[in-house]
Amino acid sequence: MRRNIVAGNWKMNKLFSEADDLLFSLKEELDKKSSKNVDVIVCPPFLYIELATDIAEDSKILVGAQNVSKFDDGAFTGDVSASMLQSMEVEYCIVGHSERRKYYSETNEEIAIKVNKLLEFDISPIVCCGEILLEREQGLQFKVVEKQLTESLFHLSKEEFSNIILAYEPVWAIGTGKTASAAQAQEMHAFLRSLVKKKYGQNAAQNLSILYGGSCNAANAKELFANIDVDGGLIGGASLKAEDFIKIVNSF
Ligand code: PEP
Repeated sequence: MRRNIVAGNWKMNKLFSEADDLLFSLKEELDKKSSKNVDVIVCPPFLYIELATDIAEDSKILVGAQNVSKFDDGAFTGDVSASMLQSMEVEYCIVGHSERRKYYSETNEEIAIKVNKLLEFDISPIVCCGEILLEREQGLQFKVVEKQLTESLFHLSKEEFSNIILAYEPVWAIGTGKTASAAQAQEMHAFLRSLVKKKYGQNAAQNLSILYGGSCNAANAKELFANIDVDGGLIGGASLKAEDFIKIVNSF
């Protein structure tokens, strides 16, 4: 079913004690509110996953990872497999983030493999797509995201696809303070939903949660989330302070 979701991508931030503090603050704040119409996912670095699942146990926090190996197990130094994530009670995992595409040369084909691995272990992939600035300036944004979606997701069956969460993250808006306007976000989200409708039908499209990511913060979240096809946010910088993140969660 389509859900409102706010997911925090901590990236490579926070020392252990800071992660502990942030998780406890989030738990405290979220516990104060009667269950609202939004799911809150926190994606800390791998090292703090156990801390997060422990603290999240009696709270409204859901735990996700930021990456997964494309391999099953064995001699892949530094990698973390989907089965390992499952064994640590991780329920979500970001894949296809533009930083991984840029710094680790991740391709749509590799993202497709990672999606398969996650689904095999009942972990919902949060799949990122989005164009770089030059592509938007050249009017190529729709072509770019269509290719990303087709090559990384459209091999899935309808049933498999129902576990996907999509995140539209225009690369020019990530960590830049430059947010897509509410109209730009809505236009792209509606386009993404139309592609899903064409491939998997009306129900699949209606049930899909599509998050916006890219300098989303406490000041602009309400306007972005008010759009009919924007079902929440994938939040980077503003997920690192409990107060800011909670304000975003409360923007619904
Ligand atoms: C992200 O990296 O997923 C992101 C949206 O970052 P920021 O909110 O900092 O732009």
